[in-house]
Amino acid sequence: VATYQDQAVLVLGLGKSGINAAQLLLKLGATVVVNDGQDQESSEAVAELRALGATVITGSHPVSLFDEHAFSYLFKNPGIRYDNPMVEAAVARHIPVLTEPELAYEVSEAQWVSVTGSNGKTTTTTLIQLMLDYKRAQGHAYAAGNIGIPLSQVAQKVTDQDVMVTELSSFQLMGTTTVKPKIAVLTNIYEAHLDFHGSRANYVQAKMRIVQNQTADDYFVVNWDLPELRELSQQTKAQVVPFSRLGASQAGAYVEAGQLCFKGEAIMPVEEINIPGDHNVENALAALAVAKLMGQSNEAIIEVLTTFTGVKHRMQFVTEYQQRRFYNDSKATNMEATEVALKSFQQPIVLIAGGLDRGFTFEPLLPLLKAHVKAVILYGETKQLLAQTAKEAGIQVIEIVDHLTEAVPAAYAASAAGDVVLLSPACASWDQFKTFEERGDVYLDAVDKIIAE
Ligand code: ADP
Repeated sequence: VATYQDQAVLVLGLGKSGINAAQLLLKLGATVVVNDGQDQESSEAVAELRALGATVITGSHPVSLFDEHAFSYLFKNPGIRYDNPMVEAAVARHIPVLTEPELAYEVSEAQWVSVTGSNGKTTTTTLIQLMLDYKRAQGHAYAAGNIGIPLSQVAQKVTDQDVMVTELSSFQLMGTTTVKPKIAVLTNIYEAHLDFHGSRANYVQAKMRIVQNQTADDYFVVNWDLPELRELSQQTKAQVVPFSRLGASQAGAYVEAGQLCFKGEAIMPVEEINIPGDHNVENALAALAVAKLMGQSNEAIIEVLTTFTGVKHRMQFVTEYQQRRFYNDSKATNMEATEVALKSFQQPIVLIAGGLDRGFTFEPLLPLLKAHVKAVILYGETKQLLAQTAKEAGIQVIEIVDHLTEAVPAAYAASAAGDVVLLSPACASWDQFKTFEERGDVYLDAVDKIIAE
């Protein structure tokens, strides 16, 4: 893209997105200066970027850089706040403050489908990608963005035959000006990152930037069960396509008589969706609306919804063994996520939980423990606290172990045919693991071991 050729560009933040953006900008012929407030001098990425010709300054934010370079753009890591001194300096000089999706969009030749919302982004993005890629005549559908696959990497390889299904956070959307998805999806709006956005109105408007450039040829797929979103959809020039689990509108995707439907056509029974829970019915509706709008077959929709086992570590269906169904919800690093998980099952649950102690009590979990859980196996820093709540909930079987590896066989022993064995820790993993991904992998290995024995 000619836009960046010979331009001086400041990349702020050496995260994944910053490194990728810097590399792409260098390729595009920009003069690139990278700045990170933390000392990163020993990092490999810094050495690599310098070898490619970037100037890299770490350990402080020298505003004097703005006098040394006539920056045309500032690309910032989406997590960097707008009161950062470098961002403030850019704003004061009327230099556009952008994020990686803006760059990726300019480079990419593919059509974009973009997904945002408070919850369900990764699941919905993945479902859409699988549906659009299924027996596709030409090109491919790629998932990218917040999902963990860098936008600027995918953007470089796609052609006009392809579709980029991009998961975009409100932080990323704040730094976009030209992104114009063919289809924009807003899954829901719940919590607000008030610390970052300042107010709920700002948070909502950041999300609505997803429709800012859409025209009458484009579509806005939006959750019709949330009155606030119906209101917001008046802001777009695109064709509004509602999805409604509660059947509030039949103008798009909805549930009627136990069937997933689209504009009057029944596609498949709701109960055949392989991933559990009402929230996943919503994700399925949003995805199937996109698939239909893009002309995909019902076969593609049915195949994906009946076989997809969930995004890894997010209510991922692992296996059925001796009539127990095992699920991995290691991503549940707080109580809210575990609440959603517990609500998703009709069967009795043997719950494995515990982890980093953040000084909370687990009181809010009490009603759901009572209603859904027959046994708990606890480990990690919070095991005693959780045991107390489980006792108050009247759960008969409460076992305390040191580590997740012991918790899995204990959970299996406490389960009976027809039960669900669920890892949904309700806590961060950092007392015993590096990441929730590592914790989930340890769980998956432990389940494998039970089956092998
Ligand atoms: P995100 O990418 O927005 O974080 P994910 O698809 O990774 O969302 O799901 C993360 C968790 O959020 C899930 O394990 C589930 O607890 C909850 N969740 C998923 N979809 C929804 C939804 N549509 N509504 C409410 N909660 C949801």
